Amino acid sequence: MEKTNIENQLYINIFEKAVNLLRKYPLCDHCLGRVFAKHGVELSNDERGKAVKTILQFHIYSLVKNKSIDIDEVKTLAINAGEPLTRMYRKIFGEELSPKPCYICGNKLSREYYREKASMIAELLSQYDVKRFLVGVSISQDTLFRELDVYREVGLETSESIKNEIKREIGKLIRDKYGLEPDFEKPEAMVIIDFEKDTLSININPVLLEGRYWKRGRNISHVPWVSKGVYKYPYSLEQFFNDQLSQIYRAEKIVFHASGREDVDARMLGDGRPMVVEIKKPRVRNTGLMVVNKVLDTDLVKAVIFGEASRLKIKYFKGEASKKRKIYKILVYSESPLDPLELTSLENYFNNRVIKQYTPKRILRRKRERLRTKKVYVVKTVLLDKQLFEALVYCDGGLYVKEIVHGDDGRTTPSFSEFLNKKLYPIELDVIGMEI
Ligand SMILES: [Zn+2]
Repeated sequence: MEKTNIENQLYINIFEKAVNLLRKYPLCDHCLGRVFAKHGVELSNDERGKAVKTILQFHIYSLVKNKSIDIDEVKTLAINAGEPLTRMYRKIFGEELSPKPCYICGNKLSREYYREKASMIAELLSQYDVKRFLVGVSISQDTLFRELDVYREVGLETSESIKNEIKREIGKLIRDKYGLEPDFEKPEAMVIIDFEKDTLSININPVLLEGRYWKRGRNISHVPWVSKGVYKYPYSLEQFFNDQLSQIYRAEKIVFHASGREDVDARMLGDGRPMVVEIKKPRVRNTGLMVVNKVLDTDLVKAVIFGEASRLKIKYFKGEASKKRKIYKILVYSESPLDPLELTSLENYFNNRVIKQYTPKRILRRKRERLRTKKVYVVKTVLLDKQLFEALVYCDGGLYVKEIVHGDDGRTTPSFSEFLNKKLYPIELDVIGMEI
C-alpha cells in the first residue's frame, strides 16, 4: 500500500506543477513536456506535454462538473494550454478560445520543424561527403531567460533545456532517416542551427592525412616563399599537395605540416620525413589511399600517405619530433687541397662533439638571435678529389648543418673549417635519415 501512496504523491506533484505553470505561462506540448523530461522513458517531450494536458483535462472537467472551480480560471488554463483544454471549453461553454503562443518557443517547435531541419541538414552534409556529424543550436539570451523563468517556477531537477531537445530530436532524425552518424568526439562537420534567425551554418573539419615525403629535387621550399611579390623558389611542397590533391578532395585549401624542415636547397632522401597534410573544407572526404598515393608519386616530390592523423600528431611534429636526430650527406668544396689524414682526424675530433651555434646569419632576418648547443655524434668522410669531399653527419635535430661546415664567421664553433683551418663551402646537402 505504501508504494501506491508514493506514486500518488508523484502524480499530484506533476499536476500541481503543471497547473501552476499554465496559470502563468502559455506553453506548447514540447515546452511543457520538457519540464517533466526526467519522467517516463522512451517518450518525446511533446508526448509528455500532451499527456499532462490530457490528464489535466480529466481533472478540470470533474471540477467543472462539481462546480468547484472558477470559470475564469478554466479559461486562463485553456488559453495557455491549448488543446485538449480548449476543446473541453468549447464543448461546455460554447466559446472558441484562441490559445496564446508558447512563452518559450513562440510555437516554433513541432515535429514538422524537426523534420524540415533534419532534411535541410542532411542535404547540407551530403554536399560535403560527411558521415559523422554534430548538431549545435544557438539561441538568444531572451529565449534562455524565458526558459529560466519557467523552470525557476517549478525547479530545474526534472527539466531539459530547449537547446538539448532540438539537438537530440534533429540528430535522431538525421541518424534514423538519412543513415548518418552523430559523433560527439570527432565529428567530420558541425552544423549550427540559429534558432532565432532560422538559419544553418556548417563547420567542416579538415581531413588530416599522415605520411612521409621525399624531395627528389632541390630548391623546393616547404611553403610558397614570396619576397617583394616574387616567388623566391619555383615550387613548394604545399603547392605540390595543392596541385595533386585539391581536385581529388575538392578542397578549399591544403596546408602542409612537417616534422622539422630541411634547407630549401637540400633534398630529402632516405626514409623520407614524417608529415601531416591538412585538407581544408573538402567536399570529398572518402577517397581510396591507392588513388591518393598514386598522384603523390612524381619526379620532383614523392609522398606516401599511411592513413588519417590526429591534431595531436601535428603538435608532436612541431615540438618533440623535430628535435630527433638526423643524418645528413654534404658535398664540401675546399679552397685548398686536402690530405686524407686530415679528414681522418676530423672524423675523430667530431666524434660526440658539442657544438655551440648562434642563429645563422642567413636566417637572422627571420629568426631571433639565440645560442644553441647541439651535438654531432658521428662524421664519416670520403675524399672525392683533392678539393672535394663528401661527409655524412649524424647529429641532433635542429643543428644548422651548413654552418658546421663553414663556421659562419665563428658563429658556429667548432666547425670543419675551423678544425681544418681551410675555407670550406657546402655545395650540396641531403637529408638521408631521421629518427622517428
Ligand atoms: Zn514551446
